Amino acid sequence: MKEQTNILNSLPIDPLTGSISVPIYQTSTFVQEAPGVNKGFDYSRSNNPTRKVLEDTIARLENGTNGYAFASGLAAIDSVIKLLSAGDEVIAVDDIYGGAYRLFTHIYQKFGISVKYVDTTNAQNVADAITDKTKLIWIESPTNPTLKISDIAAISKIAKANNVLLCVDNTFASPVSQKPIELGADIVVHSATKYISGHSDLIAGLVVTATQELGDKIKFVQNASGAILAPFDSWLVIRGIETLSLRIKAHAENAQKVAEYLQSEKLIKNVYYPGLPTHHNHEVAKKQQKYFGGVVTFDLVIDDKKLATKIVTGTKLFKLAESLGGVKSLLCLPCEMTHKSTPAEKRYEAGVTDSLIRLSVGLEDADDLIDDLKQALAAAVAITNEKEAATV
Ligand SMILES: *Cc1c(COP(=O)(O)O)cnc(C)c1O
Repeated sequence: MKEQTNILNSLPIDPLTGSISVPIYQTSTFVQEAPGVNKGFDYSRSNNPTRKVLEDTIARLENGTNGYAFASGLAAIDSVIKLLSAGDEVIAVDDIYGGAYRLFTHIYQKFGISVKYVDTTNAQNVADAITDKTKLIWIESPTNPTLKISDIAAISKIAKANNVLLCVDNTFASPVSQKPIELGADIVVHSATKYISGHSDLIAGLVVTATQELGDKIKFVQNASGAILAPFDSWLVIRGIETLSLRIKAHAENAQKVAEYLQSEKLIKNVYYPGLPTHHNHEVAKKQQKYFGGVVTFDLVIDDKKLATKIVTGTKLFKLAESLGGVKSLLCLPCEMTHKSTPAEKRYEAGVTDSLIRLSVGLEDADDLIDDLKQALAAAVAITNEKEAATV
């Protein structure tokens, strides 16, 4: 059965009423027949029927055993780090999501968990960094914002050989494009705020485990720490998932067209998109991803923040905002927005120059999106030309 059919067909029909839409169980507690005798639910932090449908659905989509829904992507990440103890070491992708970096460095370092950041686009770097204290390898592929690709199967082999857990933040790919557990990962996390919910209308996070044993440990943290997703937001994420595979395909088709157009623009220096044959590790992306995603990033031949600002404020369809993965196109200037707190030197090392612009290509018509970028780039060029004329 094709994935889209499977998603729609496997969402349960409410056994009580036949409701085709998953009911929202907006309740804190469940009445018991006798002390400890219940219908599988006792308190909504521990378990809630609406959240459970979402959790089972994401587990199925990622081909894992267990799924868990959290109040944000960061709460999901936090639950995985809580599996570790003081003295343990993590090896993480150097291009890691800024919020994960902040959590690892400014919260967990304090509790004795250390993190080594390495360039995981070469799996050998991961092997070289492992010590007997390493307990977890943390990768994202593609990364934000330059869409670096790491070979999940190769890194999972290294993890298994050293008895280390591998967790993949699969936010940028989505389970429709990439299934890390099938490639050997132990845990997958998502910011469901992005593609999985897909409509820029909520904050949510998900964790999927490859084994029941790991699932039980995450479940323990979820209940003990309490950062669960509310019933209504769980329902909204389920509704997003109903169209996930259609959206991911459409995002990728649009993004490919936008990326190819950007490559033809003289003002643009680098275009980052895993679907371009010129993209570093494009062959690895082709091997492990079904689609190449909806994020396209580029920078300018003149590395000038003012010029880039002119572009990001000059588009009409692409709205200037943080986040990604929604049906409406967004763009942002990472140096002033998502990466503002990263020191300039470190930022440049990651390729995040002053003129780097990240697009979240939405589901508008691709030609309209390209026209929008064309006019914004032309307006920026006109200003540059005027300035040059004035200085001659
Ligand atoms: C947004 C994002 C997160 C954090 O998710 P929130 O839902 O904002 O907490 C984590 N990882 C990646 C790759 C993200 O893009």
